[in-house]
Amino acid sequence: MTCLHYIGVPRIGPARELKWAIERYWQQSSTLDDLLETARILRQIQWQRQLDSGAAFLSVGDFAWYDHVLEQSVLFNVIPERFRAASLTSYQQTVFAIARGVTDPTGGDLSASPMRKWFDTNYHYLVPEWDANTRPALNPEPLLEQVQEARAIHSEVKVQLAGPATYLSLSDLKGIDKDTALDRLIPVYQELLEVLAKAGVAWVQLDEPVLCTDIDSSWRSLIERAYSSLAASPVKLLVATYFGGLEDNLSLAAHLPVAGLHVDLVSAPDQLPALLDRLGPNKVLSAGIINGRNIWRANLDAIYQFLQPVRDTLGDRLWISSSCSLLHVPYNTTNDTTPNPAISLALAFMAEKQDELQALSSRLNSQPETRWQTVFDHSRVARETLSGFRKNAAVGSRVANIQPQHRERTSAVAIRKKHQQATLELPLLPTTTIGSFPQTAPIREARKALKQGLISQDAYNVTMEVAIADAIERQEKLGLDVLVHGEPERNDMVEYFGDSLAGFTTSRNGWVQSYGTRCVKPPIIYGDVYRERPLTLAWAKYAQSLTQRPVKGMLTGPTTMVAWAFVREDLPTPAIADQIALALRDEINDLEAAGIRIIQVDEPALREKLPLRKQYQRTWLDHATAAFRLATGGAATGTQIHTHMCYSQFKDILYGIKALDADVITIEAARSEMELVADLVSANYEGDIGPGVYDIHSPLVPQPTELVRRLEKALETLPAWQLWVNPDCGLKTRQWPEVEGALAAMVEAARIVRANVEASARKLTEADEVTSY
Ligand code: GLN
Ligand code: ZN
Repeated sequence: MTCLHYIGVPRIGPARELKWAIERYWQQSSTLDDLLETARILRQIQWQRQLDSGAAFLSVGDFAWYDHVLEQSVLFNVIPERFRAASLTSYQQTVFAIARGVTDPTGGDLSASPMRKWFDTNYHYLVPEWDANTRPALNPEPLLEQVQEARAIHSEVKVQLAGPATYLSLSDLKGIDKDTALDRLIPVYQELLEVLAKAGVAWVQLDEPVLCTDIDSSWRSLIERAYSSLAASPVKLLVATYFGGLEDNLSLAAHLPVAGLHVDLVSAPDQLPALLDRLGPNKVLSAGIINGRNIWRANLDAIYQFLQPVRDTLGDRLWISSSCSLLHVPYNTTNDTTPNPAISLALAFMAEKQDELQALSSRLNSQPETRWQTVFDHSRVARETLSGFRKNAAVGSRVANIQPQHRERTSAVAIRKKHQQATLELPLLPTTTIGSFPQTAPIREARKALKQGLISQDAYNVTMEVAIADAIERQEKLGLDVLVHGEPERNDMVEYFGDSLAGFTTSRNGWVQSYGTRCVKPPIIYGDVYRERPLTLAWAKYAQSLTQRPVKGMLTGPTTMVAWAFVREDLPTPAIADQIALALRDEINDLEAAGIRIIQVDEPALREKLPLRKQYQRTWLDHATAAFRLATGGAATGTQIHTHMCYSQFKDILYGIKALDADVITIEAARSEMELVADLVSANYEGDIGPGVYDIHSPLVPQPTELVRRLEKALETLPAWQLWVNPDCGLKTRQWPEVEGALAAMVEAARIVRANVEASARKLTEADEVTSY
């Protein structure tokens, strides 16, 4: 029997019930008991579905109140030092406190743990914080309760946790090295396995996606050491790997002393022969063959052909599942529609993926055709039908005619700077912002009312224009040099463009958890992308009509649009990015014609989506930056192209930042105290740099002195004529009073530093004049 199991399923609820229940609890409009009940029901529904789809085990441990990594930290008592003495009564209170921070009545620091992206996905986890005094210990009750709940439905359960190596690789280890941390952690894992065995758990899945990344020999020996100390486990262990192939870690993974290994055969099907070769005679191989990160019906016929010989070789030792947890896809397409039925029928969210897995396992287990044929047929027909809607001849011929010179500005950055300076007449150390301003209640209400059909498009436009006029007025009063329209019309920097471009669509309910109770609804790219009408032109034009100062046009870059969408699988992503780039190129053309002289193309995903393994990074960056240059390469010499990124680790992509060939980059740097500026300078970056001078995520209003200090720090390596002054990201999540306070401080700091720079320049010239007499 080929066994079907789940690597993990989403928890937020088909209609985001958990989100609403948690937020009600936070606002104290419901009790903890209400919250517990909602969560219990959501888990029951998920387990019932798993059972109905023929799963051998119910999965436990994939439910989380905020984040599964955080809950594992609480399970293991890896609590940040500042929270250890805090009085937190319930388990949920502890989780939420570490996730969101609390105000300490005694004035101490009880700020939230930092959040980071979960590998190369858009899910964020809470970073486990260790220090020399961290003493892991087991708090198993909340997990055991869920084991009991599940076993009341079906006796066979599999508990999933992050494996020791992955858990430590995600941790911030302060004052403790990873081997010491492992020494303290292993007894807790051992104890937990004992406890779970007693509770009747059959299997424990230890997630080790770190095995699909570049790891050095110290990590390899840590992994070997960890698993040899778990070899005597009283429950069977399944090591789960995903988000890529095992590559040079394949032998290590295949030889771990555990009962099973899960591998991602969607992103790395080629690893199968080597795995079969090295798996040994007893180990289970769990084949991740349904894509856990995209939303299209699978090619079931091809998957069946691929798996059939594996089943013949492995027999019962073959298991099947999704490539990774289904956390990264929405719940189900029932009651969901896209505007085009051909697209809707080709979608597979969690529930449809479960149907596909069920059909595959039925067929692999030689069950009657009636058990699987319909799903196979549906997938085939839906895929074929959709292919008829994908192509657009005009896009095809335009892409075929892209020439290398389309990806180049007509002149070099130094020459462009002279031209731009002549028309823009910006002062030294120009001040600007990243694009968005607070999304106030009237803005959000108008958007909601428009969606519900309660107000007309015209009425909506008026509200947006009022917001734009207000933002322009405030920026002029603050004395900023380069203004923005404020992006009131955008709920999300990708969704907005997805709504306006052909080839994109959005589902009504396709929500995916991003962090905590925040969910995103990624747009779906199903066909050739092109621009039917201008995307941002009217707003930019309106803003520019209100002021003499330059207004920066604001676009989202091709790589970021691809990264934050669900993309078609019949085209390579660089080709999709090029189509988007061509649409942006036309938009830039229109903006220029309307008198917009500065245009920003945001590319935060350039860092975020960098492949996990070094060997793929260069090619990926080459494609991503080529798409950016295709979008911006048509801009006139006098048009200033800005780009923006927000993430702290840029060292790996300095080459890519240069390859964008933008005129100005605004970038997050406040939290790393301007380190990035020195890095860019030593990489001979020639464009201007706007290192974010304050962290917009903090509600604290910065003081001018602090900002002056940062600017002076930047000037230690960067010439003043290359320095811009700006916050480190968009301001849409903030409130106007703090925004105005912070920007006033920023403009003041720029003025002080500008005066200092000019004064010392004067002194130098005077000294020069004196010596030349
Ligand atoms: N222009 C966008 C904004 O200001 C950039 C957002 C981002 O960097 N993620 O909101
Ligand atoms: Zn940003």
